[in-house]
Parts: sequence; C-alpha cells; structure tokens
Amino acid sequence: MSLDDLYRDVILDHYSHPRNKGTLEGATVTREGANPLCGDEIRLSLVVRDGVVQDVRFDGKGCSISQASASMMTERIKGRPVQEAGRLIAAFKAMMRGETAGEEMGDLEALQGVRKFPVRVKCAILGWLTLEGALEEAAR
Ligand code: ZN
Repeated sequence: MSLDDLYRDVILDHYSHPRNKGTLEGATVTREGANPLCGDEIRLSLVVRDGVVQDVRFDGKGCSISQASASMMTERIKGRPVQEAGRLIAAFKAMMRGETAGEEMGDLEALQGVRKFPVRVKCAILGWLTLEGALEEAAR
C-alpha cells in the first residue's frame, strides 16, 4: 500500500464516518464558512470556556477534502486549550503552504497531498479558517 493510498483511506474514512458531526446545544460561539469555488460549506459550533475548547461540532456539505479536514480538525481541538488550537491552525496553514508545520500533525498529514492541487487547498483549509474566526469571536 502506497502512502497516497493510505492518505486516501484516512480522508475517505473521515468523510464516510465524520467525527463530531452535528450542532452543539448550548454553543458559546458558532461560525459559518464557505468555499464558493467548490461549493463547500462548514458550520462550527463550539463551547469555549476558561480558555479551553470544551466541545465542538461541525456540520456542512461539500467535497470529501473539506468535510474530512473539518472532521479531523474537531478531533484534534476537542478538549484542548484555545492557544493550542491556535498553534495547530498556524501549523496546518504552514503545512498546506509546503512549510514546516512545527507541530505533530498526525492524521492531518493525509491532507498535504492536496497541495499539488491549489484549488483543493481552499477545500482543506476551509474548516480551519472557520475555526480561526470562531476563536477570535470567542476571545472578544
Ligand atoms: Zn471542496
């Protein structure tokens, strides 16, 4: 099995069985993002309290890259400090630009294959930009 096949499997697994899918009751912040180039939409609802992402759900529609990326993202940030989520956003953006991430990316590395397709980078990064906006709003 090649690395590309392995990465494809990780993405398809998250797309077929999304983690933390849905809408959160009692969310402290909600945020929507869209990537009109591809028709992707992501809605995030989070409970941010005491500087920690206590809980997170995502909902949306679109291509497998956008939805799988959001699913993986929620797994990584749930229960984590907001600062850590912020570092991960920066690391993910760096990885998608082909730079050193500087963080342990784990399954998220599966998404770096889409760097070959600049249009798909916007799909992969949609959930992360939406999260960035949500965390800024939560900090206000
Ligand atoms: Zn897309």
